Amino acid sequence: MPCSTLATAPLPVLGRDVTVPLVTGGEVPYAALDYAASAPALQRVWDDVAAYAPYYGSVHRGAGHLSQLSTDLFEKARRTVAGFLDCRADDQVVFTRSTTDSLNLLAGALPEGCQVFVFETEHHAALLPWKGARVTWLDAPRSPLQAVRALERALADRDPGTPALVCVTGASNVTGELWPVRELAAAAHAHGARIVLDAAQLAPHHPVSVRDLDVDWVAFSGHKLYAPFGSGVLAGRADWLRAAEPYLAGGGASRTVTRRRDGGVDVEWHEGAARHEAGSPNVIGAYAIASACAALTEAGFDTLVARERHLVDVVRAGLAGIPEVRVLSLFGDDAPRVGVLSFVVEGFSSSHFAAALSAEYGIGVRDGLFCAHPLVRTLLGGEPGTRGECGAPAGALHAVRVSFGAGTPDEHVERFVNAVRELVRDGARWRYRTVDGRCVPEV
Ligand code: PLP
Repeated sequence: MPCSTLATAPLPVLGRDVTVPLVTGGEVPYAALDYAASAPALQRVWDDVAAYAPYYGSVHRGAGHLSQLSTDLFEKARRTVAGFLDCRADDQVVFTRSTTDSLNLLAGALPEGCQVFVFETEHHAALLPWKGARVTWLDAPRSPLQAVRALERALADRDPGTPALVCVTGASNVTGELWPVRELAAAAHAHGARIVLDAAQLAPHHPVSVRDLDVDWVAFSGHKLYAPFGSGVLAGRADWLRAAEPYLAGGGASRTVTRRRDGGVDVEWHEGAARHEAGSPNVIGAYAIASACAALTEAGFDTLVARERHLVDVVRAGLAGIPEVRVLSLFGDDAPRVGVLSFVVEGFSSSHFAAALSAEYGIGVRDGLFCAHPLVRTLLGGEPGTRGECGAPAGALHAVRVSFGAGTPDEHVERFVNAVRELVRDGARWRYRTVDGRCVPEV
């Protein structure tokens, strides 16, 4: 069957049988449409972790059989991730806690005097970690070409003798739009800069090839890649990582520690990935990420991308037929995007709208500014204020985001589109009030 007509999700996830109560009575299967925040665990990941759990042991330093087995699996997970990202032979894969952690790690490894270039459209995880570096924020571009031109101009203006790093997202966590990563990488390299790809929203939806995109590093999170066990990844060039102080000081990162006669301490740090993985690593988290990488690879990104495009088309076509709904976009309505869309609804505060989708339709979306305040502010054309009282239209202050992926059945996005249409046409059927700044149904 062509993937565009698949009604069920290509990859089974946990929670697909969970039902939730509606304020209007009865229960419905929960429609998890907040994948951009955290995707449900793949059934395959859960099964793999459960099968491995009895064999779990401490890695690297244990002499026992299970420690050796776990060490093998942990190192194999590294190789699986390297394969998933199509890394170069000498790239390093460091297991971290998340994308935020990965980018903070890289921020701590910047060479002296490094200048960092970021678009204001980035997630805060990519905007904020560069403490101590000279950071240039670039205005939100209105097309992929403008993005490349703006970066070229900014890099050309910099002092060419200093190291530079560009940090860019692969797919926006607000609009879902794809960024011209290959072209930005070419621009960065042409000006002697390096580039790190924030693939938090790209990797779950698209193949990411370090070689093909020619990026220097990639960061992503397990919990957005159907592997919610507390792990993330930073993969890429070894030189800056090797030259940097360990991200955390402690066991695992240190090869030898010697007390000197003068009372001081000499530490010889590891040079490989272990240098930045001090403490007992999250073996299950790394194993879960590798399992998700294998599952996505086996399902085939051609199938997954085509099927997700179909879901995006259903949502876009549905929302386009509702004049009160404005979908947010930086690069234009037809820009290619992953299964992430944000919108505002005339006459509704975003908090009220999201609360009604949950309480009356069993649909879980997100409302707010999505940790990308400058971008949402630019897209909404104003300063965000409060989330808006229930029932008091303040839609322009925040947005609602719907997001989905390989575990989403057609029914979830169809229910979502119908719910938006009904809410706009008939209004909420329930009463809501504001508690701690959030809209909640009256009990
Ligand atoms: N980058 C992007 C584009 C994101 O969407 C997110 C999370 O939403 C992050 C980075 C941060 O990811 P994490 O919270 O897993 O560190």
